[in-house]
Amino acid sequence: MIVKKFIFMMFMACATTPGIAQDKLASMAPVDKKMRTIDSLSIVRLLQHEEAEQTPASALYPEWNNVYTTHYGVEMPDEYKIDLRGFHMPADSRLVTSHYGYRKTFHRNHYGTDIKVYVGDTIRAAFSGKIRVVDYEGKGYGRYVIIRHSNGLETLYGHMSKQLVKEDQMVKAGEPIGLGGNTGRSKGAHLHFETRFLGQFINPEKMFNFEMQDVKADYYVYRSNGRGTLMNATGVLAATENEENAVLDKEEESREFQQQKIAAQKAKSRTSIHRVKQGETLSVIAKKYNTTVKELCRLNGITERSTLRIGQILKHS
Ligand SMILES: [Zn+2]
Repeated sequence: MIVKKFIFMMFMACATTPGIAQDKLASMAPVDKKMRTIDSLSIVRLLQHEEAEQTPASALYPEWNNVYTTHYGVEMPDEYKIDLRGFHMPADSRLVTSHYGYRKTFHRNHYGTDIKVYVGDTIRAAFSGKIRVVDYEGKGYGRYVIIRHSNGLETLYGHMSKQLVKEDQMVKAGEPIGLGGNTGRSKGAHLHFETRFLGQFINPEKMFNFEMQDVKADYYVYRSNGRGTLMNATGVLAATENEENAVLDKEEESREFQQQKIAAQKAKSRTSIHRVKQGETLSVIAKKYNTTVKELCRLNGITERSTLRIGQILKHS
């Protein structure tokens, strides 16, 4: 009895002294541990959230912008394994109405695959990613959307009647991004679907079988020499598909086509323009391209007080 009372008194005495802090913490250890677990879980969630907010494939691309241009200063890797798993057909239709490649009748290249759609048909993101460009080109793509994906690809969807997404928005594979249409340079409703890797066009039909509505293999190995190959999950080359790809390569590499390609690339590398969007000021645009308002004025022959029009083209370098 006396012992018990003594312990109680000791406890009371200790409780009022600062020295007890350590013991107190020790006695609370299980609770504390639990708290820490909750903390680390919320940190993990926070990191995952941040990751989701980040730019996909940021290790590959030097910058993120909302302007349609080629990518500057990108060193093309000799080889890069593009993960095709998680692909979703951009349209329900299986019908390819025009292939990728040089069109003799038009003396120009067709950098995508045309898929038959009707006005109002749902157009979906081919992979999860982040919307980079939502824009309109009256003499070209019409209403179009460009998405950057974490596998390194960028996909473009052209001639839509309506865009359903906003720039910098994250989307999941298969999520609706627009409606089929006939806008821009288009005769009859269809979806113009492009795939690019670091700004270089890749024939979508090398990676996807639109008729089967599926990927041709789990991976497409991009090669800077243009001889990309297909690979499955175990690393074995899918031989038949690669033979098909070789045929596609050959078709594309006609002299005329190559010349056109070089000319197009040259033209692109000369244009470093920005299309003014709603609410943008010179200082906002200057900041975007790491330049100054003064420099923008000089390049475009305007003054700091010039009124910017939506859709106006500005040189930024
Ligand atoms: Zn097309």
